[in-house]
Amino acid sequence: MTPRTTEPPVIEHGGGVWSIKVPIPDNPLGFTLVHLLDTDAGPVLVDTGWDDPASWATLTAGLATCGVAVEDVHGVVITHHHPDHHGLSAKVREASGAWLAMHEADAAVVRRTRAQPPERWYGYLAAKLTAAGAPAEHVAPLVRARDEGRPRTLPGLDPALPDRAITPGELLGLPGRRLRAVWTPGHTPGHVCLHLEEDHPAGLRGNGRLFSGDHLLPGITPHIGLHEDPEDDTVTDPLGDYLDSLERVGRLAPAEVLPAHQRAFTDAPARVRELLAHHEERLTGLLTLLAEPLTPWRLAERMEWNRPWAEIPYGSRNIAVSEAEAHVRRLVKLGRAEAVPGSDPVTYVAV
Ligand SMILES: [Zn+2]
Ligand SMILES: [Zn+2]
Repeated sequence: MTPRTTEPPVIEHGGGVWSIKVPIPDNPLGFTLVHLLDTDAGPVLVDTGWDDPASWATLTAGLATCGVAVEDVHGVVITHHHPDHHGLSAKVREASGAWLAMHEADAAVVRRTRAQPPERWYGYLAAKLTAAGAPAEHVAPLVRARDEGRPRTLPGLDPALPDRAITPGELLGLPGRRLRAVWTPGHTPGHVCLHLEEDHPAGLRGNGRLFSGDHLLPGITPHIGLHEDPEDDTVTDPLGDYLDSLERVGRLAPAEVLPAHQRAFTDAPARVRELLAHHEERLTGLLTLLAEPLTPWRLAERMEWNRPWAEIPYGSRNIAVSEAEAHVRRLVKLGRAEAVPGSDPVTYVAV
């Protein structure tokens, strides 16, 4: 079957696969592509979309366009725990009784998010930013929020607990389909891509199709920062994990990639090479900046973002610093930078 557009926001990809554009309110990404996969046991979703009434309405209307009532959904496979992917999972499960599957590393994040008292979170973030060299006036609001016992207001603070664990390398056991989980940590610790090991319905050359979540996108790079977890002080290397995971999906050489944002695309290996080159270039650029010792905060101020540092809003600065730290972590692991002994907050310098 040739892929064809039925009626937006639903795209039929052929071979019993559809995507539904589920809007993300007030977000430049615009929408999440929720994928629908027909199986002999009933329809299965890959991701669910943002938890918002308009998004829910779009999802259910999109399913109806594909001839599916949300009550009939058999299972939900989550690529990662972020609210634009996992947000509507509880509603879908409530409506249908579907099982919810997620990689254990992201399920752990979900459990901690649900259990964490807000003051613990504010305190953790304040300490982390201070250690990264953030100025006191940036940290002050967090300390205030902690001391006042203010609740957190971000979306996605009550994410659904999954019923099943996704085991990397294993088939998901969907009757009539071959869908294999590929663990692709980096963007989150438990991010998975789902490899549909079936011939491409339009005969495109390559190995089946890959639901790539946020791991591999045609026109943007996913955020790679340190995974924020007050209960875990492991020295992780998310950027290193991400780059390894990129090579991994490049080697799969799928005929087509069905990502969770933007649009479906082909030639995954070329996109992987492009992203690897982009990150190498970025790391090299950072080494130039690290000719003088810098804290992660000062490094973030000097890095290139989509707008000048002065115009970056508060919350996005925290994300930017986390991304700067992930890059420094990688450079240290590669032996290309090191911490300056005795510096406090710790500064890093190219070696
Ligand atoms: Zn994400
Ligand atoms: Zn996303």
